[in-house]
Amino acid sequence: MQKRDYYEVLGVPREAGVADIKRAYRRSALKYHPDNYKGDDKSEGEAKFKELAEAYEVLSDPQKRQLYDQYGHQGLRGAGVHDFSGMGFGDIFSMFGDIFGGGFGGARGGPRRGYDLETEVELTLEEVATGADRTLEFERMDFCETCSGSGAKPGTTPEKCKTCGGHGQVETSGGGFFRMVRTCPTCRGAGTIVTDPCSDCRGSGRTKKKRVLSVHIPLGIHDGQVVRMRNEGEPGEKGSVRGDLRCYVSVKPHPFLTRHGNDLLCQVPITFTQAALGATVEAPTLAGREEVVVPPGTQHGEAITLKRRGLPDPRSGRKGNQVVQFLIEVPRKLTKKQTQLLRELADIEDINVLPVKKGFFEKLKEYFG
Ligand SMILES: [Zn+2]
Ligand SMILES: [Zn+2]
Repeated sequence: MQKRDYYEVLGVPREAGVADIKRAYRRSALKYHPDNYKGDDKSEGEAKFKELAEAYEVLSDPQKRQLYDQYGHQGLRGAGVHDFSGMGFGDIFSMFGDIFGGGFGGARGGPRRGYDLETEVELTLEEVATGADRTLEFERMDFCETCSGSGAKPGTTPEKCKTCGGHGQVETSGGGFFRMVRTCPTCRGAGTIVTDPCSDCRGSGRTKKKRVLSVHIPLGIHDGQVVRMRNEGEPGEKGSVRGDLRCYVSVKPHPFLTRHGNDLLCQVPITFTQAALGATVEAPTLAGREEVVVPPGTQHGEAITLKRRGLPDPRSGRKGNQVVQFLIEVPRKLTKKQTQLLRELADIEDINVLPVKKGFFEKLKEYFG
């Protein structure tokens, strides 16, 4: 069978960031999950689900993604991509369990862990260079203090659920290729039924609460990466763990510097005379302005490298470089004096034709005769 393009499968552009790929996968995978799939043909839904998992495995892994970008499907031979065709839904879900948070426990059964929460943190490039601390403030469902999360009015005891016999789960067969242990619909996994509900949480055992938390964003982080804070999500079902808080990092565009891996690039405009005669100009760096030398005879687009003025590598801490590229700007307006001087220059140029220019005119002559 012909394999489809992974970007097409996930419906993301080729330059999509990690966070976008994750979001796209989560959205599509949940659509084709047997719990949600609306189509008649279950095997078609299953095939789509597995195609998505494969695309996600490759595009979410920087090394596999690079191989795929360069060589296509061929490049991934021997790269250790899983064969999803023989896997069940449950296995695939547990493989990428992180992504789905507590919303889908998969076909494994057991009490459902709490929902993951997402938040976003914006960093400047300067903060990427040093790492940053942020205070996060968010709302999450938490245990009700009045009833300690039981949902029962203080002083009363919940009754054992008759549907599941207190287990909190019931088994269902989904027809065909999977079988699932589901949360009991009567008690919603609690194993007990509240007959006299707590007035503060109306029996749910959960109330909305504000949470303030400080997070450290490690240096060298990239746009779209996630800092995961374990057990800072919402509480899970009885006997299970809290979900996580996923902190998506976005890096603010810098007015002068663009990032290429750990290297930085800035473009500095210079005049024609600065390029021809050489000059010292100021270039923006993360540490502030820095004087750089434009060598005489600099061509448009030529660059110099400032060593170790880039961003630190997250693992080694080793800094990248900054590349300063010179762009020659031609003046749009000239004073009388300038015009006169340039005309004089042009007169000399007519006699001494510049080497590159000469080559161009000779080629032009050869071509058109
Ligand atoms: Zn029950
Ligand atoms: Zn309560």
